[in-house]
Amino acid sequence: MDCLFCRIIRGEIPSKKVYEDKETFVFEDINGQAPTHVLIIPKKHIVDIKEAKDEDAEIIGKLHLVAAKVARDRKIENGYRTVFNVGPGAGQSVFHLHLHLLGGRSLAWPPG
Ligand code: AMP
Ligand code: ZN
Repeated sequence: MDCLFCRIIRGEIPSKKVYEDKETFVFEDINGQAPTHVLIIPKKHIVDIKEAKDEDAEIIGKLHLVAAKVARDRKIENGYRTVFNVGPGAGQSVFHLHLHLLGGRSLAWPPG
C-alpha cells in the first residue's frame, strides 16, 4: 500500500525506531516539536480515529499504553501529552492513525 507510515513499518523508508511489538511501531517524529516527540502507530492501516471501527478499540487503547511505557522509559512521566490531530483543520497531514507523544519541556495549555 502506498502509505508513508505503512512503508516506514515495512522498513522501505528509514526511521529512527524507538519500540516495536506485534501490533504497534514507535519512531521519532522527523520534525520534533519537543525533546521527546515520537509517533505511536498501529501496524494495521487505520486512516484516523474517525474511520476506526469497534474492532479497533483494543489497538487504540494499546497505543496509549505504549505511549505511557515510552514516557516512563524517557523519564518524562511527570508531564507529557498524547495527541491525535484529527482532520486537516487540526493539522492532520498523514492518513495512517498516529498518536503523538510529546514531552521533555513544559507544555502550555490550551495548545495552539
Ligand atoms: P499529523 O500532522 O498529526 O498528521 O502528524 C504527522 C507527523 O508525521 C508530523 O509531525 C510529521 O513531522 C511526521 N512525519 C512526516 N513524515 C515523517 C517521516 N518520514 N518520518 C517521521 N515522521 C514523519
Ligand atoms: Zn498506512
